[in-house]
Amino acid sequence: AGPSAPIIVTGGAGFIGSNFIRCWIANEPTAVINLDKLTYAGNLENLSDLPGERLEFVHGDICDSALVKGLLARRRPRAIIHFAAESHVDRSIHGPDAFITTNVVGTSCLLECTRDYWQRLPADEQAAFRFIHVSTDEVYGMLTPEEPAFTEQHPFRPNSPYAASKAASDHIARAWHHTYGLPVITTNCSNNYGPYQFPEKLIPLMIHNALAGKPLPVYGDGLQVRDWLHVEDHCDAIRSTLATGRLGETYNIGGNSEKPNIAVVQTICDLLDAERPRADGKSYRTQIAFVTDRPGHDRRYAIDSTKIQSELGWTPRETFESGLRKTVRWYLANQVWTERVISGAYRDWIEKNYAAR
Ligand code: NAD
Repeated sequence: AGPSAPIIVTGGAGFIGSNFIRCWIANEPTAVINLDKLTYAGNLENLSDLPGERLEFVHGDICDSALVKGLLARRRPRAIIHFAAESHVDRSIHGPDAFITTNVVGTSCLLECTRDYWQRLPADEQAAFRFIHVSTDEVYGMLTPEEPAFTEQHPFRPNSPYAASKAASDHIARAWHHTYGLPVITTNCSNNYGPYQFPEKLIPLMIHNALAGKPLPVYGDGLQVRDWLHVEDHCDAIRSTLATGRLGETYNIGGNSEKPNIAVVQTICDLLDAERPRADGKSYRTQIAFVTDRPGHDRRYAIDSTKIQSELGWTPRETFESGLRKTVRWYLANQVWTERVISGAYRDWIEKNYAAR
């Protein structure tokens, strides 16, 4: 577990995890082990162009303590970056069980296995080891339009089953630091967007539906406000946290880009109008369709990331405008990727390349 030891990324076949692995391989000299269960959201095609000698895939569940303990003993990582989760709010409303199992029970299992491993390390390796718990701003609940943005001191008031399961995992991670001294740091980030995002999420869904000539469904009045951060900026923030974050602390990560959902959708339409005009010359905005709001839909989240900016010197590189333009161009250039996810063909690829091993 010395400085040349690998890191373990959980959930590395998902949206943020795969972007993080990409960012790690481009910027750091050491290897990455990707521990992923490959749920519907896990897509190894996201990583298929990366160099095999720097990246190892382990197919497994963070709830499987024998597997996790065996992996830690065998590969002796110097850090764990924990992304694996059930991540979609709508799915959590329809079926919360998987969220409790993976996000709460899975995280506590991973922490216990890590504690067992960490306690046996020599003192210098123990001191250098880190567990980064990746979480969301949704744990803080909802803000009114007048309230200041969430700081790290804001009380937890999670409203959806997803947010509640993440809040529980944040408390567990914190307790493992407080009680056992496990070197845990937690990050709470706002909404991410960028390449390789599963097309059930707002931005890739809108791009796909727009190009397919389908309605662009916007919940309620579309005035729910979210802060948006380009995924590569999130990945940089996690690398900064790993390098110099203080143990036991939590860091809010945000893009300083509060936008109502309807404005996000309109901007996507405008970018598509410029990049790939509709054949009939009309704007993609004509496809916007308001639909019944999601139950318990939070009106506003906003994140104050002063702490990470001043303590760790991190700052986002993309503005919402530059990041969204880049993202729309990526989805236009990678329509086959989206089609393979929507058709389920990415699963056949996983079968062919991994199931036989
Ligand atoms: P995602 O749904 O795209 O990916 C999740 C990954 O975890 C998938 O590859 C899946 O196969 C894997 N996984 C799920 N259950 C597992 C289990 N039991 N064992 C092993 N692997 C499992 O999610 P994402 O959007 O990339 O989010 C990653 C993390 O970042 C999550 O913890 C999420 O709460 C957090 N987060 C996400 C956002 C966002 O906007 N997407 C914002 C802030 C924080």
